[in-house]
Amino acid sequence: MKTIGIIGGMSWESTVTYYEIINKEVVRRLGGFHSAKILMYSVDFAELEENMGKGNWQGNAEILTDAAARLEKAGADFIVIATNTMHKLVPDIEKKISIPILHIADAASGAIKQNGIKKVGLLGTRFTMTQDFVIERLKDAGLEVFVPDERDMEIVDNVIFNELCLGKILDTSRNEYKRIIGKMKQQGAEGVILGCTEIGMLIKDEDSALPTFDTTIIHATAAVNEALR
Ligand code: GLU
Repeated sequence: MKTIGIIGGMSWESTVTYYEIINKEVVRRLGGFHSAKILMYSVDFAELEENMGKGNWQGNAEILTDAAARLEKAGADFIVIATNTMHKLVPDIEKKISIPILHIADAASGAIKQNGIKKVGLLGTRFTMTQDFVIERLKDAGLEVFVPDERDMEIVDNVIFNELCLGKILDTSRNEYKRIIGKMKQQGAEGVILGCTEIGMLIKDEDSALPTFDTTIIHATAAVNEALR
C-alpha cells in the first residue's frame, strides 16, 4: 500500500471527510483491520484565507510547497491537496517536489465520464468558477462546463467562505444552492460538480435536481485507487 500525503485544513471540516472516506474505502476493499497509510500536513486556513483576500497567491504557494516538501521528505508516495481552489497552485508546487500530485479535476472528470455525462455544472469558490485551473482541465477531458451567472456566483462563493468553511450549515443556503442547480439543469447540464470540498456538507444527492459529483468523495476515492494500485 502506498502512503498518501494529504495537505489538509482547507477547511479542516472537509479534511475530516477525506480522512473518513479514505479509511472506510480501504476497509471496504481490504477488510479486517486494514486502514490507510496517511501522512497529513494540516495548514492554518486563516493564513491562506487572508492571502487569498489580498491576492497574495505567492504567499499561498510558499505555504503549500513547504507542506508538500515536508510530506515528501516524511515518505509520502503522492500528494492529495484537499481543496479545489488551491489546485490553482499545482504548477508552483510541482516544481519543488518529485512525487506526483493527484489532481482533483482529473479525478472528477474520470468519474463524470464513467457515468456517460458530457455537460456539467460547476459549483465552487469564485476562483474555481472563473479561473481555468479546474475548468480547462475538465474541458481538456472533453466536458462542457456551465457556471452560475454573476449574481448566483456571488451567493455560492459567499456561502462557502462565510458559512461552510466555518462549519455553518443553513437551510436557506441549501435552498439557494438547490435553486441554482435547478437553473443549471434548465440550461442543459446533465450533472453538477460539487467543486468545493465543503459543499457536500450542505448538498446531498437528494437535494439536487441533477446527479452530483462531489469532489471530496471522488478525490478521496481516487487516492485509495492510487494507494492500492
Ligand atoms: N475547500 C474549498 C475548495 O474546495 C475552498 C477553500 C479554499 O479556498 O481552499 O475549493
